Amino acid sequence: MSDYMIRAVAAEGKIRAFAATTRDTVEEARRRHNTSPVVTAALGRLLTAGAMMGSMMKGDRDRLTLKINGDGPVQALTVVADNRGDVKGFPQVPQVLLHANDKGKLDVAGAVGVGVLTVIKDIGLKEPYVGTSMLVTSEIAEDITYYFATSEQTPSAVALGVLMNRENTVRQAGGFILQLMPGVEEETISRLEARIGEIHSITSMLDEGMSPEEILRYVLEGFEPEFLDKTPVAFFCDCSKKKIESAIVSLGKEDLESLIAEREPVEAHCDYCNTSYTFEVEEIEKILETSK
Ligand SMILES: [Zn+2]
Repeated sequence: MSDYMIRAVAAEGKIRAFAATTRDTVEEARRRHNTSPVVTAALGRLLTAGAMMGSMMKGDRDRLTLKINGDGPVQALTVVADNRGDVKGFPQVPQVLLHANDKGKLDVAGAVGVGVLTVIKDIGLKEPYVGTSMLVTSEIAEDITYYFATSEQTPSAVALGVLMNRENTVRQAGGFILQLMPGVEEETISRLEARIGEIHSITSMLDEGMSPEEILRYVLEGFEPEFLDKTPVAFFCDCSKKKIESAIVSLGKEDLESLIAEREPVEAHCDYCNTSYTFEVEEIEKILETSK
């Protein structure tokens, strides 16, 4: 089964819900960035949140960026998503080795440290929307819950999880987001809180073979969830040699000439997918020639 997410409403539209299974996406990120297990877990949780939060945007050209900066050894995590399930991201430091935390789990909070979450929504306006909130636990799901509460005034429940195989590949990854819409009754809130309190971890549900639909049906039992749509999720980077070439053209004639004068190939690197592009001197000459 490849990765996808679903959207649903429940309690007559007073609850909106998202759930995703993202194992292949997170495994692709792990492979591309050669991340250690704790970084795979941290980045995987943020990629999963990014995919679901990206789908909350309306326009096909809208872009969501989630950035975590902390004083832990991973330093920073950056994820970019659109509203069609394409998501990409990278850690500042891919190889961080930490002991398991006191619950025997990968110590994501220790890797991230104390810091801030920044949410940038580029929805085609002159200035993007930027929201910032403190990290409350640095385990990522709680930090996103806190962001929704403080920056978007939307009470939410967020679960994100990544489970590793023994050989450090990704065994399961996924998550869900539940949000309360304005006008929701107190009774619905307390019933939902009680329900969420009964849930085991998201990764154990995925590892039991539960699909995103089954997870939402289970979490929202008694709230009559209604499924709206299903979207494939994938690690996808839109960089290309052509795109980087246009960035080189924008350097201008003088800079291009001095690059050529150095007689050294130019290396360009995409952080998101960890791909390097090399431009030989002859290629730069051709770029200069055609840009005239
Ligand atoms: Zn790229």
